[in-house]
Amino acid sequence: MTAQLIDGRHLARRLRARFRERVAALSARGVVPGLAVVLVGDNPASELYVANKVKACADCGVRSFMHRFHMDCRETELLDRIAALNVERGTHGILVQLPLPPQINARRVLESIVVDKDVDGFHLYNVGALVVGNSIFPPCTPYGVQLLLETTGIDVAGKNVVVVGASNIVGKPMALMLLQREATVTVCHVKTRDLAQHTIHADILVVAAGKPGLIKAEMVKEGAIVIDVGINRMADGRIVGDVDFEPVRERASWITPVPGGVGPMTVTMLIENTLRSAERFADGEAFHPPQPFWQVPAG
Ligand code: NAP
Repeated sequence: MTAQLIDGRHLARRLRARFRERVAALSARGVVPGLAVVLVGDNPASELYVANKVKACADCGVRSFMHRFHMDCRETELLDRIAALNVERGTHGILVQLPLPPQINARRVLESIVVDKDVDGFHLYNVGALVVGNSIFPPCTPYGVQLLLETTGIDVAGKNVVVVGASNIVGKPMALMLLQREATVTVCHVKTRDLAQHTIHADILVVAAGKPGLIKAEMVKEGAIVIDVGINRMADGRIVGDVDFEPVRERASWITPVPGGVGPMTVTMLIENTLRSAERFADGEAFHPPQPFWQVPAG
């Protein structure tokens, strides 16, 4: 069996064409969606991710505003800026690019973003809402994976799903989202004993560990759907995922390539969340000045 490719670039293009229509509809109501991007320091990977996000905004007609801070900046400077963005009318989404330098408490910064503008979905309110299955803004990477899975036409309900990686931004929210769709979910992490013993039973295998070559063909069930979230830059400059792509492709039924799979969808779902936020403001579901998060209606 040779797996069919799940083409993230193609799906992202289709979604973005629809986004432009939503931007036009918002614009007819006098609303131009706006995303504030907060970047601390000059980490080359963060610079690249942010540049992609800014480009995607421009592509869809969403305004983006860069807020750059020096590597040595104080936490209060960030908190003050976020407080101002929280009440700024032209800003519908606030994104703080991670990681932040060690003098800054990332949790405190993420918690300072008003829930109505938390388009990355990292605020505790949105994390908790995910647990009960009605978050306003699902985190972008697992949200993108969910849409990629839908393109296969396979219902995840009742399937054995194995998620390799248990981070707060990918693995854990991914597991919650699939559990909500009635999959039987196993989450593996660095302490998991005999990883292959779990992965071999997966009808759907989602890998987000950041370890090139972690998943070999013999660890994959014949006919499985394999989603590779990993992004690893090799010494020769190649970008690869966590899955041994060619041999695994010979066993799986569907597989995402790296690059061109999950990556384009992550950025696209950020735009989806920003548009959803602008629509919530336009529809009177979100307000300036913001409500305390305990008064925000569930999504
Ligand atoms: P992370 O915070 O480093 O988390 C990695 C997770 O994988 C951790 O839970 C870790 O376990 C687990 N892990 C590491 N080695 C493992 C092993 N040998 N066996 C089993 N589990 C293992 O990384 P992340 O932010 O979730 O990102 C994961 C990967 O996805 C990275 O390559 C990142 O670049 C990529 N990524 C891609 C996108 C995209 O848009 N395509 C978006 C986000 C991230 P412990 O918890 O026990 O340490």
